[in-house]
Amino acid sequence: MKVGIAGAGLLGRLLGWQLQRRGHQVTLFDAGDELATDSAAYVAAAMLAPYSEAVTSGAELFGVGKQAVSQWRELLQQLSESSAHAVTLNDSGSVVIAHELDRANLQHFSQKLRAAVGDDSSIKTLDRAGIAELESELPIRFSQGLWLAGEGCLDNRALLRALHDVLQAGGAELRWHCPVSRVEAGKLNTPAGTESFDWAIDCRGLGAKTDWPEVRGVRGEILWVRAPEVQLGRPVRLMHPRYHLYITPKPGDIYVVGATEIESESQAPVTVRSQLELLSALYSVHSGFAEAQIVGSYARCRPSLPDNLPQVQVSDGLLRLNGLYRHGYLLAPTVVESAINALDGDVTGTFVQNALTVTS
Ligand SMILES: Cc1cc2nc3c(=O)[nH]c(=O)nc-3n(C[C@H](O)[C@H](O)[C@H](O)COP(=O)(O)OP(=O)(O)OC[C@H]3O[C@@H](n4cnc5c(N)ncnc54)[C@H](O)[C@@H]3O)c2cc1C
Repeated sequence: MKVGIAGAGLLGRLLGWQLQRRGHQVTLFDAGDELATDSAAYVAAAMLAPYSEAVTSGAELFGVGKQAVSQWRELLQQLSESSAHAVTLNDSGSVVIAHELDRANLQHFSQKLRAAVGDDSSIKTLDRAGIAELESELPIRFSQGLWLAGEGCLDNRALLRALHDVLQAGGAELRWHCPVSRVEAGKLNTPAGTESFDWAIDCRGLGAKTDWPEVRGVRGEILWVRAPEVQLGRPVRLMHPRYHLYITPKPGDIYVVGATEIESESQAPVTVRSQLELLSALYSVHSGFAEAQIVGSYARCRPSLPDNLPQVQVSDGLLRLNGLYRHGYLLAPTVVESAINALDGDVTGTFVQNALTVTS
């Protein structure tokens, strides 16, 4: 089939690649560039954190998200077989800590977590020695924590590059700096005119708002720092009364530090207040961050629907994927699988809303 996809961020690229693997002819249109610098996917920490997220999101999300690490392992294996890229997947879990004064916040988090997911063997309580064993550089003052062994993170920028290269090598048509103003059944409207496809697919994230008014943006501010003096092996979360800071390691001594969450669609630069709060919390975890260089500070909107869960809407000739909110990397493999099944006529997948015309 001839498939036109509007939006080549996380969902557009992943879906496009999987459709290409199945023999479909894929054309991708994006308002931005081939690195996806305008997307939420580009700035994200790309943590796969079903446990931490279960505290605020429901059981459905936990059930799906729990499979994310193994789903990505398989996808990245396929990717390395069809391209020169090896994308790093860190599957060594995450560590949750709190300063002594904020112990109650850690205890409350632990209670809420167990209430949400039950007694799960992936949740391990840590004492001072246990923290030191996993993360030897965390200061000795952290005396209580959790190890969420079923969590991980991936190198998202390498992933976006690899998906671009594999799509290009496989013959997909890639149109950069080409905004799509409207996505209709079998049609994409671009500045050059209307193009027709067997299926038109909308993966524009917040850019889909013009056609799907329920889509909203949730602003997130995040910093990328280079810190050669720090060696953390896995994502670290700091429980704090006002914010939950996370520090996610990436290749090349990079740590991603985030993130704020604000009900706003502003993508204006990071504010002084947010930057101060993120950086002071960061420095309180490890003094080695004092000499870190800030290599990027970003504000982007997480594309979200009213219930903060994704939706795959399918109707004749039109597929719309959106609402990945703060769980894009966690849920993308399942959402993409549901979308592919829907194109094949199976509309029973997770998060699918079916509006196909029933023909007898
Ligand atoms: C600060 C921050 C931290 C995050 N951390 C995590 C995390 O740790 N773990 C996790 O699982 N998720 C995380 N996320 C969420 C994740 O990044 C998103 O859920 C995910 O990127 C959404 O994927 P998407 O493809 O729907 O949208 P995007 O990745 O935003 O891609 C949308 C694409 O559509 C393009 N586009 C927009 N309008 C148009 C148009 N009119 N025409 C053509 N193209 C258009 C854009 O240029 C973009 O490339 C984070 C998000 C933010 C902002």
